[in-house]
Amino acid sequence: MLETQTMIQRMRALRAQIAALKQELANLEELRPGSLSRQYNICGSPGCRCKGTPPQKHGPYYHLSYTRKGKGGTRLVKRADLPAIRIELANYARLRHLVDRWIDLATQLSDLKREPPAAGNKSTKRA
Ligand SMILES: [Zn+2]
Repeated sequence: MLETQTMIQRMRALRAQIAALKQELANLEELRPGSLSRQYNICGSPGCRCKGTPPQKHGPYYHLSYTRKGKGGTRLVKRADLPAIRIELANYARLRHLVDRWIDLATQLSDLKREPPAAGNKSTKRA
C-alpha cells in the first residue's frame, strides 16, 4: 500500500492534470466529427483529358465521411472550406482524446481514494 504522503501527492497531481484538461476542453471552439478523403474522378465525356495518356483525372474532390448517432454520411467539401473543416476535425479529435484522458485520470483518482481490494486474500471456500 502507498504511503499516505505519496498518495496525497499522486491525487494532487491527478487533480492538476484533470484541471488542465478541463481548461483545454473549455477552450475548444468549432467541432465536427468525421474524416476527409481525397478523390480524383474520370468523367463520361469522350476524348476528355481524364482519359488521355497519361490521364489527367478531375479533382481533387474532398469528401467528408462521418458517423453520428449511429448514422453515417458523406458530403462533398468545397476547396475553400477545407482549412476551416480541417480545424473543426482536429478540434473534434482533440475533444475525444481529452475526454478519454479525463476518464482514465478520473478512474485512477477514484481508485486512489479507495482501499485496493486485498489481492490473494480471498476467503477460502469449502468444497
Ligand atoms: Zn473527364
